[in-house]
Amino acid sequence: MAKEPIYLDNQATTPLAPEVFDAMVPWLRDNFGNPHSAHMLGRKAAAAVEVARDQVASLLPSNGNLFFAGSATEAINLGFGAANALKAAGRDKIIVLDSEHAAVRDTALSYKEHGFMVERHPIGPDGIVSLEQLGGSIDEKTALVAAMLVNNEIGVIQPVEAIANLAHEHGALMLCDVVQGYGRVTIPDNIDMAAISAHKIYGPKGIGALWVREGIDLPPMIHGGGQEQGIRSGTLSPALCAGFGQAAALCSDRHNVDAAHIQALADKARSCFADWTVNGAMDQRYQGNINIRRNGVDVARLMSDVRGVAFSAGSACASGSGRPSHVLAALGLGPAQIKSSIRLGFGRYNSLDDIEMAAELINEAVEAQLA
Ligand code: PLP
Repeated sequence: MAKEPIYLDNQATTPLAPEVFDAMVPWLRDNFGNPHSAHMLGRKAAAAVEVARDQVASLLPSNGNLFFAGSATEAINLGFGAANALKAAGRDKIIVLDSEHAAVRDTALSYKEHGFMVERHPIGPDGIVSLEQLGGSIDEKTALVAAMLVNNEIGVIQPVEAIANLAHEHGALMLCDVVQGYGRVTIPDNIDMAAISAHKIYGPKGIGALWVREGIDLPPMIHGGGQEQGIRSGTLSPALCAGFGQAAALCSDRHNVDAAHIQALADKARSCFADWTVNGAMDQRYQGNINIRRNGVDVARLMSDVRGVAFSAGSACASGSGRPSHVLAALGLGPAQIKSSIRLGFGRYNSLDDIEMAAELINEAVEAQLA
């Protein structure tokens, strides 16, 4: 059997934690009850869903409700519905950072069809938004401001708490895509909505959630049997919920251990890739990501030369759409710099040896290219 590549793409997805697998098995194999049934089997499944909901919600601000969804993308689409509810009050402007994931950016752009003006707000050359500039854009016509916590391509952390304050000064709501930071980076408790995804925290694919501050009017997105308080109908999977809950609990229990491990991996990567330039801020960042470039490197060729490492072209939109990275372009990088960028993402199950071996393979292939 071919050897598995060294996995350095933890922003795309993460391996399932063994403890998560164990927590899911009983709900796949033994307990098949529909959590929305009134009998005992149903109540047992419903109880498991509520335990999971509490586990996932415990890493988010306390004054809100958590709605399970099929993915963070779905959760984001759900959250944008709150803008529609504000339109009647004369608010018809949505502001998103130019570096948002396609799940936020394209959802925002789709609101043009609902009569909204959508602003893609610029970021600085370090990937961070200027609060002064953003403050000048938010006004009393603004319904929603969306800004992500940790960028999935370059790892930089936005000043989310200050952005939420700016939105609130003008009566607008603030939606935060916390997918890449949840369980790892502190989430400010003044945000109004947060979207998360289990498969980015060593949980299963196929489940995400939207956290919504109490009192926010959220219209139903999926109509049907009235599940999830009527906001998102459809039978929940107790196995996916239990897996998400366990993944969240592990993030909490292992927080310091994981953080120290990720920092050690990041330090190792910085020394192994010392000849490369980091894209985005060096200080305000999540350490589990590094997006780097080297003049003259052809990343498409590099990826086919280095089959032993699973990593991403920095230029490839992380959504896998094949579109070039709007994030690197928003930093002000030119096409040649974008095409010579790679993204490495480290996680709980990587070792220092992984980084060293991957760096050797990548740097060797680069030297051969540049020779
Ligand atoms: N937001 C960010 C920052 C992401 O990295 C991703 C996944 O790549 C998403 C949203 C979408 O998550 P999901 O795969 O659960 O739809």
